[in-house]
Formats: sequence, structure tokens, C-alpha cells
Amino acid sequence: MKRRHALKMIGFGSAAAMLTQADDGRARPSRFDSTPARRPEIMVGSTDLREIEAIDSHTHERAFLTATKSNAVYARGFADGGLPPGPFPEKDALRDRLIPEYAAHWERMPPQVGLRNYIARTYGAEPTRENLDAIIARHPDATAYYREKMDYERIAAVVLQSESTDPVRPKALFPDDRFVWTFSIGPLIQPGWARDRGITEIDQFKKALLDIVATCAKNGCRGIKLPIAYYRPISFRKVSRADADRALKIALDAKPSAFIEGRAPTYDDDTITAALWTYEDYLLNALFVRAGELNLNIIIHVCVALNTLLRADWNDPRGLYHTFTDADVQAAGTRFVLIHSGYPYHHHVASFISQFPNVYTDLSYISHHPGTLEDVLRTFLGLAPSEKIMHGSDFSSPEALAYSVDNERRVLAKVLADYRSHYGWTDKDCERMARNVLSGTARKVFDIAI
Ligand SMILES: [Zn+2]
Repeated sequence: MKRRHALKMIGFGSAAAMLTQADDGRARPSRFDSTPARRPEIMVGSTDLREIEAIDSHTHERAFLTATKSNAVYARGFADGGLPPGPFPEKDALRDRLIPEYAAHWERMPPQVGLRNYIARTYGAEPTRENLDAIIARHPDATAYYREKMDYERIAAVVLQSESTDPVRPKALFPDDRFVWTFSIGPLIQPGWARDRGITEIDQFKKALLDIVATCAKNGCRGIKLPIAYYRPISFRKVSRADADRALKIALDAKPSAFIEGRAPTYDDDTITAALWTYEDYLLNALFVRAGELNLNIIIHVCVALNTLLRADWNDPRGLYHTFTDADVQAAGTRFVLIHSGYPYHHHVASFISQFPNVYTDLSYISHHPGTLEDVLRTFLGLAPSEKIMHGSDFSSPEALAYSVDNERRVLAKVLADYRSHYGWTDKDCERMARNVLSGTARKVFDIAI
């Protein structure tokens, strides 16, 4: 679909150039050359939220597939994740039975219902899986497709999590002038990573890890991602160097019984699991300080929903209090971004972002669920400044990125209408909150000048 055609579908108005108000009060020319038609459902007072540019603070990039194919990949992952790690006799048969159940389940989830309805509104098509596939198939050039949808929904830039273990800017399908990147530390704290490099001492391990983090910073990385709530708790004890060294040796000598996500070892013996988490705590506490010194954000997955690997106990963020109040971390000035809103712990996350100036959150993944997004946005805005909250998608397909920000604007308009009509907030207050959530906070936190 040509962009002009897509714009016509939704009735864009004049092609007058726009100015967007930057957070510092200065106007900067908008990259978007069209003024959107005003729609009452996304207006707050005289502000049309479609006129406010967005930044997507958390995206991925995966092989480009039709919706049907990518849903099949997800269904297999969810079926697998809900079974115990490692082989057992009935595993293959159980997985084969579960895959169609998960596929059907995912089709009825809010992100999929919402996405089908979004394409129906946008392209004037019936909201069916077949039509979504057909629209995606019309776009053989992934980079052009990203640019088209980003322009259409006025997404100035995305924060892309690199899929690589090399600390360099990824070669992405996203247009090169429209993304900044972050780096996942998940694979690098595992015993296998150390073993592959001949590492036997904890200080060697710490140096190797922190050298990579320094290289990330040198190469323009904006944050270090911790996906570790998939395989361990996100609370970090202070550990002495001697204890960490002892623990590392135990973990290096142990034989895992299985691996979570193909990389995080599990052990039948709980004392070995404890040793693994002990040396990891030591490394991660060092990482938090170094990241602050290098001006890199620490991005922590906190959310339990959909993915069967995610456990409520491991995602419980309450223990992070000790990290946020740690003297070394505070001295380093480290910023933390607790992503996916922390759901169902979003009340705890709201408390943290109201307590600590260096703690932020994003709405990625939740942004595809209008009902839950409303609940979460009300909770966050009810307790903390909008300067602590960011829009995000957590998805990789251009249509899903676009649906997520369309949803964000609609729900934000509904919530801010209450602030304006019932809570006594001024139009200016409401506009500032919308600008911060849609892009202003992410611009500051991820240092985005695009
Ligand atoms: Zn993600």
C-alpha cells in the first residue's frame, strides 16, 4: 500500500508543516508533513493527541512473518514454556496437544482483537486474520513498511532491543535514522558464557562483563536490558567478593538438568541454584554502578502475562527497594526503567516511580490491551509525574507498533479527560502529561534527538 493511499483511508487533512513543542519549550519542526484530521475520541480539550509525536520506548525485531506464521511460532513457545524444562517421556505429545490451544487462545486475546480492528479502521477492510495477513504480504520491503507505519502514526523513533550478544549497534530492518538501541545482558551472566571464555574467577568474570558494557556505551547503546525475571528473582543481595567467587566455582562445576530459554541453567540441587544466583547478584550489583557511571539505563523486565515462562514470584519487584536505596547505586546516579508496567505489580511500580527520581516505567506490551492500559495509566498518573512514564509496544511488526500507539492515544485521551473535566487540571497540564507519556519522557531517558 502506498503511503498516500493509507493516509487517505483515515482522512488526513492539509499537508501543512507542523511544529511540535519540545519538552524544553522550544518548538522543533515536525518530521511529519500532514495535519491529522481531528477525531473527538482522541482530543483532550483543544489538543488532538494525534498531533503529538510518539516514541516507542521498547521494540524488538524478528524475522518478518505474516501474522498467521508468527502466531504459530508464539503458540509453540507458550506451549513449551508452560511445561517443565528438560525432556520427559510425554513432553512431545503434550506439546502437540497444547500448541493449537495456545494458538486459539492468543487469537482471542486483546492484542489480537485490537489489532484486527485497527487494520479494519485503517485500511477499510474486514477485521479478519486473512485480511491482516494480506496487508502484511503487500509489504515485501520491511524497512519501507516500518517507515510507512511510523510516519502514519507519527512515531518519530523507536528504542530497539538488539538481539545480538555483540555490543555494537545492530543492523536493523528499522530505518537507520529512526532508532536507538539497547543491549540484553541475559546470556552474558550465565556459567556457559564464562566457561566458553575460560573464565574461572569472579573478578575475571566481572571485568569481562563490564568491558562489554563499556563497549556498548562507546557504541551509542542507551541501556542494558535484564530479562532475568524469566529465570530468577529480581532482587539482588549484597555479596562479598569471596562468597561470589566460591559460588561461581560451584556453578561452573555443576551439570545443569535443563536450560530455560535455551540458556539459563536449572539444577536439581537447590544449593547449586543458590550459588548461581549468588554470583549473579555480585555481577549485577557491579553492573548497576558501572551503568550509572556510563550513563546507561538499566532496563528490567517486570510483568506476568501471557508468556507461560513468567512466574509471579520471580517478577515480584519489591526487593528492588534495596537496589534503589543502595549507596553505591545512588552515588552512580543509575536510572532504572521497569518495563511492561510491572503488571500485576503496577501498584508497586507506581510507588517506586513516585518515590525515586531515578526510577521510570513503560507501558510496553500493556499498551495492546485497552482495558488494562486504562487501569495502569490511571494508577501511574494518579501517583507519579508523567515525566516518569513512557509509551512502548514490545512488539516487532509494523502494524502492531502502529496499533499500540493508536491505543495509547485513545486511552490517554480518556484518562486525561477526567483530569480536565473532574480533577481541575488545566488544558496545559493535560497536554504536558500527554506529551510526556507519548514521547517526552522517552526522549530524555533514552537521550533521543531524532
Ligand atoms: Zn521486550
